[in-house]
Amino acid sequence: MLYIKTLDTIRTMAEGGKLLYNTLELLKSEIRPGISTKELNKIAHRYIISNGASPTFLGYGGFPASICTSKNEVVIHGIPSYSCILQEGDIISVDVGVSYKGFHTDGARTFAVGRISSEAEQLIKVCTDSFFAGMKYASAGNRISDIGHAVEEYVKPYGYGIVREFTGHGVGNQLHESPSIPNYGKPGHGLRICDGMTLAIEPMINMGGDAVRIQKDGWTTVTADGKPAAHYENTVAVVSGQPVILTAPDVSL
Ligand code: MG
Repeated sequence: MLYIKTLDTIRTMAEGGKLLYNTLELLKSEIRPGISTKELNKIAHRYIISNGASPTFLGYGGFPASICTSKNEVVIHGIPSYSCILQEGDIISVDVGVSYKGFHTDGARTFAVGRISSEAEQLIKVCTDSFFAGMKYASAGNRISDIGHAVEEYVKPYGYGIVREFTGHGVGNQLHESPSIPNYGKPGHGLRICDGMTLAIEPMINMGGDAVRIQKDGWTTVTADGKPAAHYENTVAVVSGQPVILTAPDVSL
C-alpha cells in the first residue's frame, strides 16, 4: 500500500526521526570493545521508551528485539545477544525503528569498534556516500528506480556487492509500505516521485559478492562469502519537490 502523507504527518514523523537519530548517536557513544549487542539493545529500548515512543521492530513479524545488531559478515537483521561481544576491529550495523504518535521512521548506521582496517573504513564510507548519491534523486518528477540506479553507479567503481534480496521501502503508516526501492537497476522505472512520499532509502553494501543467505533463526542475514557488509539508512520525505532527511537532529518544515 502506498500512503501519501500530509505535511502535518511528515512533521510528526520528523519528531520520531529526531528521536531515532539521537538513539543512533547514543549507540555510537556506547559502542566499544567488550560490550554485547544485547546491552546495546537494552540501551536503545530504554531510551526510546523513556522518550514517549516505542521500538517498531520489537515483535514485528516475530522479531525478538528492539533493534537489529549486525556484526561484520551479518548484513542485516542480526538479533542482539549477550554472547555477541564486540571486539576491536569489528564493524557493527545497528538498525533502529521508532514508532511515535502512530507513525514509523527507520534508520541504520554501520559503526567501527575501536580501530578498524582501512578496507572496512572504505566500505562504510562508500555505503554512506552511496545513500547520499541515491537520495539526491528522491525529488518530485523523478522515478523510484532513479534512486537505486544512482546508488549502483556510485558503488560500481569500488567492485563491492550490492544486496539484491532486500530493498528500501516506503515507511510511515506502516514499517514497510510501497514502493520498494532496490539499490540497483536501470533509471526511469517505477512510480513517479511526488510530494508526501516518505521513503526509507537503505543501501546494503558487501565487501565481496552480492549474495546473502538467511541463517536458521529466520532473521540473521549474512554475506554468502563471509566478507563484511555495511548498511546506511535514513527516512526521507519529499517536501516542496525536494528530499528531506527526517531521521536527523534538526528538521525545519
Ligand atoms: Mg528499512
